[in-house]
Amino acid sequence: MSKHYNVIIIGSGPAGYVCAIRAAQLGQSVAIVECWADDQNKPVFGGTCLNVGCIPSKALLDSSHKFIEAKDQFAAHGIAITPPKIKVADMLARKSDIVSQLTSGVAGLLKHNGVDVIQGRGKLQAQRKVEVAMLDGATLQLEAEHIVLASGSEPMSIPPAPVDNTLIVDSTGALEFTEVPDRLGVIGAGVIGLELGSVWGRLGAQVIMLEALDSFLPSMDQQIAKEAQKIFKKQTLDIRLGARVTGTDIKEGKVEVTYVQGEKTLTEVFDKLIVSVGRQPRTKDLFASDSGITTDERGFVYVNDHCATEAPGVWAIGDIVRGPMLAHKGSEEGVMVAERISGKPMQLNYECIPSIIYTDPEVAAVGKTEQELKAEGVDYKVGTFPFAAIGRALASGNTDGMVKIVADKSTDRILGAHCVGPSAADLMQQMVIAMEFGSTAEDIQLMVFGHPTLSEAVHEAALAVDGHAIHMANRKKR
Ligand code: FAD
Ligand code: AMP
Repeated sequence: MSKHYNVIIIGSGPAGYVCAIRAAQLGQSVAIVECWADDQNKPVFGGTCLNVGCIPSKALLDSSHKFIEAKDQFAAHGIAITPPKIKVADMLARKSDIVSQLTSGVAGLLKHNGVDVIQGRGKLQAQRKVEVAMLDGATLQLEAEHIVLASGSEPMSIPPAPVDNTLIVDSTGALEFTEVPDRLGVIGAGVIGLELGSVWGRLGAQVIMLEALDSFLPSMDQQIAKEAQKIFKKQTLDIRLGARVTGTDIKEGKVEVTYVQGEKTLTEVFDKLIVSVGRQPRTKDLFASDSGITTDERGFVYVNDHCATEAPGVWAIGDIVRGPMLAHKGSEEGVMVAERISGKPMQLNYECIPSIIYTDPEVAAVGKTEQELKAEGVDYKVGTFPFAAIGRALASGNTDGMVKIVADKSTDRILGAHCVGPSAADLMQQMVIAMEFGSTAEDIQLMVFGHPTLSEAVHEAALAVDGHAIHMANRKKR
């Protein structure tokens, strides 16, 4: 006999668990199926984000940032200390502690909201049925009015660099190095590669990043990407573009990496190699062939704007569907689906999803880049403002970078905002709010910004859109 629910969710990452909580809040009977188990066979909630993604990487980024501050920046503030030493084991223990606080928090929230937790691997069948392969080998049959697929993603691999979890690791392995490697290779200078390369580079590794593409961060606004590249160059990251890895060889406990750059074939020897060449949706064995689900050639489940699949009553959210692979995008899709299941016609504004790289300084953006607007033939105007002219940035010693705002030339509506600089993520969140309210550049110009704050860079960039920034000599005066 199969057990019946209103909603069954497969996967408890930030997409799945948020969907479960919201659906339960709206009065649905909800079950969540999760196959991740710890070494005592207890379910692990929170998916990639909480366990091996956003949270542990940020814990290590924050630890390594404090190390760099103590090592290189305290002196400028008149603070004299003996050179700091990093205890990697303590840093990792702190990270694990943060992860378990959050994952047990999710377990508590699911319980509090009356969500049934089913431990095992779920597979969608026809007619909104789910078959769960339990850890003990038994099979459980479930059925529901609505099924939400939220099985997330996993690291991609490339044949020239097979992950052995010892010398060649993926992003998960790179969160667990027990000592700082002397020489660290990173394949792929995307978001994850930059963040993990930064962690170990700050702690003393010599980091070389090999990126196949000729341009740096091609999906970011290229003015901001170029500025970021310049700043990272001054730090410990040696980013080599147009460098395609073609092979690896393990020799005497080290990894020799062969790569092609232009006409040349080159090699580098590393103590550890991180493969961060992107992620792929985890949709293999997720649904039976007669379940009505279809995917594209890369495995992403086809959904409409509201995350409904082609099978009636089946939804898919998070990293397994189109759009950026970001925790907050998946979570909001989870909320949207829970609301729609409950008869509330929520929509998600995919134009306003912020993206962030947690390097130092951070890189963050929302909306259209200048190159996208050019390609679309949109007539736009641009304002930029450097942090070097912001008092608060100077006071804290974080003057690298700028804010950039692009607005429609005829309507003045803000179309995109981009930033490399201190607290870029939080500054760009202000622009998410502004853009959601359909703000024009003038709206921002007319607001009062607290002084001295980093936010003043947003104000000045908005003023610069029309050529009247105050603390800068404007090229076009109004
Ligand atoms: P996941 O988090 O992958 O969760 C899916 C869950 O489903 C897992 O728990 C899995 O065990 C379970 N599952 C899979 N198949 C089944 C099945 N058949 N039955 C039962 N359970 C199943 N994003 C950000 O927004 N900000 C960041 O700073 C950020 N940093 C990152 C850093 C790193 C190193 C990595 C790797 C990723 C980072 N991401 C970040 C991306 C973010 O982690 C993902 O976008 C997010 O976790 C996707 O959420 P999800 O719920 O779709 O899937
Ligand atoms: P992201 O998808 O943001 O995590 O970035 C992954 C990066 O890895 C992309 O910029 C790819 O161009 C890069 N990449 C993929 N394969 C290779 C390779 N063989 N050598 C170097 N870089 C690669």
